[in-house]
Amino acid sequence: MQIAGLTPLTTTDYPGKLAAVVFCQGCPWQCAYCHNPGLIPRQAEGHIAWEEIISFLQRRQGLLDGVVFSGGEPTLQSGLGAACQQVRALGFKTGLHTAGTYPERLKEWLPLFDWVGMDIKARFGDYEKISGVPGSGERASLSLQAVLESGVDYEIRTTVHPGQITENGIILLGQELAALGVQHYVPQAFRAQGCVSSDLLQLDVKPLSWGTIQAALQPLFQSFSIRGN
Ligand code: SF4
Repeated sequence: MQIAGLTPLTTTDYPGKLAAVVFCQGCPWQCAYCHNPGLIPRQAEGHIAWEEIISFLQRRQGLLDGVVFSGGEPTLQSGLGAACQQVRALGFKTGLHTAGTYPERLKEWLPLFDWVGMDIKARFGDYEKISGVPGSGERASLSLQAVLESGVDYEIRTTVHPGQITENGIILLGQELAALGVQHYVPQAFRAQGCVSSDLLQLDVKPLSWGTIQAALQPLFQSFSIRGN
């Protein structure tokens, strides 16, 4: 496990739970809006040893509900399954933030997680425009299918920058997700914090009408909300 950082307490990264967040180093995709671009390279200075994380969690038993693996892309880490088992053995619920970059690994490890927050970045045919990587849409599609078939609690989310997707585009994406069986969906407004893409930061585009998006999509999902607009 290449651990880049630890947030000791969060109330927002694992719905309804007091959790710690373990940030994993490395991601094979290159989304311009990434708010943790320092975590994209597979190697970086200053890692936290996994033993330190375990030692921290031992001191938090009974005080935290869960641990979320985030990143970067946690499923890049070959040790994620074993790490997750150790965390569960300490009595914590386990959560995962993933973009679904490694569908085979995700499918294998899903039974170890109590909750998954998965990014769906675009309609699958348009993925490369966001991720910068050919074939990423197929991978995300397989990962979404694995999440839906696993029965694990989940939230599907889409980061929305008005320069990358139109109102109609997000509505079409939501309709496609609902048709695939997604029941919990959260479009989330792009946050400038952490983003290093001058293109995205400087784009002067008309803001989206979130009310229009909400009216079109809310009826399609069991739970639906818009974050950060
Ligand atoms: S998949 Fe996530 S971590 Fe990877 S580059 Fe995109 S936003 Fe950043």
